[in-house]
Amino acid sequence: MTIPLAQPVLGPEEEAAVLEVLRSGQLSLGPRVPEFERRFARRLGVAHASAVSSGTAGLHLALRAAGVRDGDEVVTSPFSFVASANVIAYERARPVFADIDPRTLNLDPEAAAAAVTDRTTAILPVHIFGYPADLPAFERLGLPIVEDACEALGAVHADGIPVGGRGHPAVFGFYANKQLTTGEGGMVTMGDAAVKERIDSERNQGRAPNMDWLDHDRLGFNYRLSDLACAIGIVQLDRLDGMLADRARVAGWYREALAGIEGLELPCEDRGQERRGWFVFVVQLPRGRDRDGVIEALRARGVQSKPYLPAIHLMSYYRETYGYREGQFPVCEDVAARSVALPFFPRMTQAQVEQVSDALRAVLES
Ligand SMILES: *Cc1c(COP(=O)(O)O)cnc(C)c1O
Repeated sequence: MTIPLAQPVLGPEEEAAVLEVLRSGQLSLGPRVPEFERRFARRLGVAHASAVSSGTAGLHLALRAAGVRDGDEVVTSPFSFVASANVIAYERARPVFADIDPRTLNLDPEAAAAAVTDRTTAILPVHIFGYPADLPAFERLGLPIVEDACEALGAVHADGIPVGGRGHPAVFGFYANKQLTTGEGGMVTMGDAAVKERIDSERNQGRAPNMDWLDHDRLGFNYRLSDLACAIGIVQLDRLDGMLADRARVAGWYREALAGIEGLELPCEDRGQERRGWFVFVVQLPRGRDRDGVIEALRARGVQSKPYLPAIHLMSYYRETYGYREGQFPVCEDVAARSVALPFFPRMTQAQVEQVSDALRAVLES
């Protein structure tokens, strides 16, 4: 039996919640949307939240709310899922990459500061693999911030504030491999009521907040999340503490089982009061190993794995559109070339972790 990369936790509670919405006949723009938003905001200790159709949609609306426009520059991480850079291009602004910190793999605040110009209108840090980015350092730059927290539900900053709870627009994603899933979906959290108002309007075709059907006073999109999805999200929120604890336990088993393999780098440990919200277990292979060969050898042993993540600035679209090239962000390029995501999900058993780890050890030591 092949061990999958990810697997959501779903049970009779989610089924019942979906059935209830189905039977109510109100599948969209109903009561589950504000209920999910209120509960999510309360959990993060933040004033407001807006449910949206995906993490990408949330990032797009958050960036618009931050005032990013045609010709602007937004400083962001090249080591991320491509969505965090794509949304900058949606607004015809320029994604300006800066290198990452080799320990946390997050955007390096000093490199980001050096990339700021008089055209920079926002910083878009990503809490990659659930490890909190150094927000206090970015806040000192004095520019609007949009946080990509799509991988970081459950993460906590050194000052005790949950990721997504600082008041900047912060975006979470609910695709099926995330800490909390609604199938597809996302949530923007924010401290400012005016930002919520704008995002709520723009996710719904720019419709006036008083729900006057005919008046659309601004450009909008259809980035709504359905009541079916929100009903699942409400149940998933009730499960969240358990699922996060299960993920952390699986990560602990991996640390033990993978200890002492020469040249293999594991995800960084929490420093001080910072807490990772466990999302994936990504290792960096020893330098000089053929990554595709390792992934193939793992597959032959019944273990799924994948390169994760590729450097965004080296993707064809980014090379061709913005002129990025190899060698510009050496830390990111080194990490991206060696990273492999191993199977990781809350219900993973210790025996499965050992099977994956034994396979990786055998492949690397052969
Ligand atoms: C998952 C993810 C997103 C959003 O993905 P969607 O599929 O649009 O929900 C954005 N950024 C990062 C870093 C992600 O991991």
